[in-house]
Amino acid sequence: MRAYELILRKRDGGRLTPSEIEWFLGSYTKGEIPDYQASALLMAIFFRGLDDGELAAWTAAMLESGDRLDLSDVPGIKVDKHSTGGVGDKVSIPLVPLMIACGVPVPMIAGRGLGHTGGTVDKLESIPGFRTDLDVAAFRRQLGELGGAIIGQTERLAPADRKLYALRDATATVESIPLIASSIMSKKLAEGCDGLVLDVKVGAGAFMKDLESARLLAGTMIEIGARMGRRMSALVTRMDEPLGATVGNALEVRESIDLLRGEGPADLEELTVELGAEMLVLAGATVDADEGRAAVRSAIASGRGLEAFARLVAAQGGDPRVAEDPTSLPAAPRIVPIPAPRAGFVGGIRADEVGLAAVVLGAGRSRKEDAIDPAVGFVLHKKVGDPVDAGESIGLAHVGGRPGDRAALERVAAAFTIADEAPPRRPLILERMSR
Ligand code: URA
Repeated sequence: MRAYELILRKRDGGRLTPSEIEWFLGSYTKGEIPDYQASALLMAIFFRGLDDGELAAWTAAMLESGDRLDLSDVPGIKVDKHSTGGVGDKVSIPLVPLMIACGVPVPMIAGRGLGHTGGTVDKLESIPGFRTDLDVAAFRRQLGELGGAIIGQTERLAPADRKLYALRDATATVESIPLIASSIMSKKLAEGCDGLVLDVKVGAGAFMKDLESARLLAGTMIEIGARMGRRMSALVTRMDEPLGATVGNALEVRESIDLLRGEGPADLEELTVELGAEMLVLAGATVDADEGRAAVRSAIASGRGLEAFARLVAAQGGDPRVAEDPTSLPAAPRIVPIPAPRAGFVGGIRADEVGLAAVVLGAGRSRKEDAIDPAVGFVLHKKVGDPVDAGESIGLAHVGGRPGDRAALERVAAAFTIADEAPPRRPLILERMSR
């Protein structure tokens, strides 16, 4: 079988058979097919797509490229949540302890920051001592004993995706629905959860820019999961402005702790409660979403979520006192106000621009090997629709003294549009989908 023939056929709109897909991905993962041929096939798929049969085979081949965790000996229906990626999206950090508090086990394998979007693993690593590199045995043990664990992707979990993702990132082939769906689902199916709630983001700060594409992506992932016997549901949510008020690793952990204390921003709390309610319903822990919402709110109000967070931090080697005293998190040496250019109302905040400005400050990586600065980022004081006075601070930049700091400040200021009138309020949660 020659890679060239498969590329040619896909380029011209033909179909690949399951055995051809298995051979191609298996050989590529072993290093027997060069990057340039894999890149060409990815670009052909970007333009031609994959039909249902091809997509199922592609996802299965990615899944089979590595280990699959069998968590059947851990009691309970294990449910995870996955977001397609956004700016200021720290939901997983409060959500996992809230689910622990509600008695639903969560085996979460989370990612690092990617492009303008942040990653849960980078955020959690800003907690002194916190380890996200637990081995599978420790992950399983913690899941059984505590009811939840959050680790980074291991070398052996869907290695085909690890290689392919890096290649897609470098060849402008990320924003393809079948490639995103198979990439996410191969990792999630490998981690051994029984149910999965997807948070599919749509808007300027998301991979999916319009509702139709977000729906299609959500439906595609639900279908893949359901065919593999998983309980699936999805929320399609807006990612135009950053979620919550903070962007940057330690700042986002701090905001997550605020949420668990009942002092989180309204949008972050709304999304956390909604996703938590979906997880409780999938796990069969509550009869419907209303009961689920009430259970999540009660876990916040009673402090049980915060206690579970402290236990999770301690179990993974971090200092649990951070839950009571977030001042032990890394702090930037300088805090610089960002003034509003004129009076009016916030008409929009480009989440992708804020995310990229945070990368320039050092909160994310421009290249895979870059080190990040956990302390830097932004605290935004305004949400879309809020009134502003000329010169009033619309946010604070927590800066580390890098050469790009000034450019980052200018970029985040330019991400704000100031309008004469407040734009209409738009809902955060656009749609719920399940099967
Ligand atoms: N996240 C992933 O894991 N894969 C994609 O392709 C896009 C987002």
